Amino acid sequence: MTRQLFQDDAYLAEATGVISAVTDEGGLILDQTVFYATSGGQPGDRGSLNWDGGTCEIATTVKGPDGPVLIPADGATLPPVGMEVMQSLDWRLRHTHMRVHTALHLLSVVIPLPVTGGSISDGKGRLDFDMPEAPDDKAALEAVLNGLIEADHVVTDEWVDEEVLDSNPDLVKTMSVAPPRGAGRIRLVRIGAGAETVDLQPCGGTHVARTGEIGPVRLGKIEKKGAQNRRVYLHLV
Ligand SMILES: [Zn+2]
Repeated sequence: MTRQLFQDDAYLAEATGVISAVTDEGGLILDQTVFYATSGGQPGDRGSLNWDGGTCEIATTVKGPDGPVLIPADGATLPPVGMEVMQSLDWRLRHTHMRVHTALHLLSVVIPLPVTGGSISDGKGRLDFDMPEAPDDKAALEAVLNGLIEADHVVTDEWVDEEVLDSNPDLVKTMSVAPPRGAGRIRLVRIGAGAETVDLQPCGGTHVARTGEIGPVRLGKIEKKGAQNRRVYLHLV
């Protein structure tokens, strides 16, 4: 299994690592990585690997059976198995994903309805809600959302036994994204602390450390998706 360094420190933009395998498709597997693999609506990281005598652009990162698989750009020279490399993220892009991702947690607070899907991209994101009627005051929702951001709540994660989740099914807001599980434990992401907790849900993504770091956001269009669902877009300003 690849050690996923971003789970403990989302702010790690660089780290060393050793190439442990190259897949048949030319994907790179490392002993440990800062590259987040596409999942839960968050895109995989891109960046570069540098080693003694070589460099390789990473176009994206996907999920493999043993953890993230780094996908080199077309035509890139691959580091050999056993080589120690320096991994560097495209930090501007990753940090933007962290800001949008954390903002989507807050969107699920101001629209307290079941989430059926979601997606994050560069500077914007969306959630699909089980919401038969469109909200009648988008400006009011946007004001509450920006209030939660400006309150600069701390964002932390904690691992709990799976039974805690199984006995509190209300914690799972996102029906389409199975929370990360492993060795009987599950990762919860908390916004706010103690009695001031604003949101608590299982999530394996990367988040900013405080909500103020998201900066102001605006709500975009709200699309009807079938009889039951509305797609709500959120943009960093
Ligand atoms: Zn999350």
